[in-house]
Amino acid sequence: MSAGGAAASADTTRDRLRPLVTERASKGFFDAAADGELAILTCEDCGRRIHLPRPRCVYCASTSVRWKPVARTGTVYAHTIVEHQVHPLFPVPYTVIVVDVDGEADGVRLIGNLPGRIDVAAGTPVRSAFEDLGTDVAGNPVVLPVWEIDTDRAAAADGAGR
Ligand SMILES: [Zn+2]
Repeated sequence: MSAGGAAASADTTRDRLRPLVTERASKGFFDAAADGELAILTCEDCGRRIHLPRPRCVYCASTSVRWKPVARTGTVYAHTIVEHQVHPLFPVPYTVIVVDVDGEADGVRLIGNLPGRIDVAAGTPVRSAFEDLGTDVAGNPVVLPVWEIDTDRAAAADGAGR
């Protein structure tokens, strides 16, 4: 199965924490990532996003819910720089970002991190990439969506403001 998309710019040779990809609440998210998609749980009856994922729609109570692809681009909503190391696999500094996914109403925000002390602000364009972490012990692909600065859109926005 292909991870699709561009390879992450992060150093992929270092040890990484691997997510559990078979947990019921998030399996669809990681299945989509393995196919090179970002997906958000969506109600098939009322069409609204259910984020964070729940077994039934929080708006109409339907149990007909399904993971559906969303845009692989977004903008930074908020960020912070972590300077105090709390885990050996997360060397500091790194920049935690909260991303508004393009085309989604308020409330569909994903969290990610960028290695280093990155100069971002609210509105900085980002795009997703997919980091292939191999397979778990059962042979399931482990693919982690990661964010990177969308340099093309950032440059275009810079140019438009001058
Ligand atoms: Zn619904």
